[in-house]
Amino acid sequence: MPKFSTLAVHAGAEEAGQYGPGTTPIYQTTTFQLTDEVYKGMREGKSRDVLIYTRYDNPTVRAVERKIAALEGAEDALVFASGMGAISSALEAFLKAGDRLVCAEDLYGLTRVLVTGRLPALGVEVEIVPTTDKNAWKKALSRPAKVVYCEGISNPLLKLADLEVIANFGHRAGAIVMVDNTFATAYNSRPLEQGFDIVLHSGSKYLAGHSDLICGAAAGRKEMMHKLWDRRLMGGACLDPHAAFLMERGIKTMSIRVERQNANALQVASFLEGHPNVEWITYPGLASHPQNALAQRQFSGFGGVVTFATATDESALKLLRKMRLISEATSLGGVETVASMPMNTSHVRMSEAEMRAIGIRPGIIRLSLGIEDCEDVIDDLKQALS
Ligand code: PLP
Repeated sequence: MPKFSTLAVHAGAEEAGQYGPGTTPIYQTTTFQLTDEVYKGMREGKSRDVLIYTRYDNPTVRAVERKIAALEGAEDALVFASGMGAISSALEAFLKAGDRLVCAEDLYGLTRVLVTGRLPALGVEVEIVPTTDKNAWKKALSRPAKVVYCEGISNPLLKLADLEVIANFGHRAGAIVMVDNTFATAYNSRPLEQGFDIVLHSGSKYLAGHSDLICGAAAGRKEMMHKLWDRRLMGGACLDPHAAFLMERGIKTMSIRVERQNANALQVASFLEGHPNVEWITYPGLASHPQNALAQRQFSGFGGVVTFATATDESALKLLRKMRLISEATSLGGVETVASMPMNTSHVRMSEAEMRAIGIRPGIIRLSLGIEDCEDVIDDLKQALS
């Protein structure tokens, strides 16, 4: 079986086609020729197996889906118009009024709004569990649940979900177990091999990798992806073919990007840990991370995000403004290093009390390492922190 980097380059690519193109052609079309075979497929409920209309499916979209399935070791995969398109489709495809969702406390801000606001309003019973507390997971999953949801490495505090433990308890409760693995990346982490049913990504981050695309992905067993495909069809969060082409192109270089980002993040985290103006820091690759042993066991690399804090929100904002090479911008996983504060970006919809309750303290900065020469990034941090 070819390994990750080989699959990233070759898997899913379109067959040569009429002109033998070296890359996947962009099928920039809304619609496809209707034939007897297409009508038959539609009549038999096999609309996903034929080409009808691009909201249903498209060959460029299918190419990147096959690539992602190969990378995740999944039977099947789907791409979406955004990470939130993938996440909300996955939760809404498998949950209905009266169902129970058991969910980690540490989540991307909008996912948290979705699970604490929208889903309960639709009649879903939601129980939030402290992400790193095994006993709390065990207790919450001692009664039946329909879905279990967590982030492999959480945004922004970089807490780890113990994937094997959560998958085991989740399955004992009869649940479909899902992970948003955006921060951990498809390169560093293998949640499906650790028992998870569905892995989700904001593809806008490490998959696409160049901060020029909004997209999302899900991977898992065929029958689950089929249900999710139906939800995507109705919700409309399909990916445009041109974006699918860019996503596939981005994924081809993922392994070398993420390797550099892992290395840069570890080096920058070690630098920041020793700096007198840094009040607090977390990075799963540091020995000081409370779950470093789990990180070593569970991941092949620790990701490109380092989260640290200066004394106050004001000093953190000042620091961002002094950075020259590093952009004051949200998002992560791109080739360029960016830094932002969760309290005024990704988690802005949480109240201050909610943020404090989960440990988002004042002065927190989320730093996403790119692929620049690490010395230059450290020099920029040095001058900004001085
Ligand atoms: N999941 C995580 C962990 C994220 O950080 C984000 C966005 O920042 C999302 C999901 C949402 O992804 P998108 O912006 O592609 O909708």
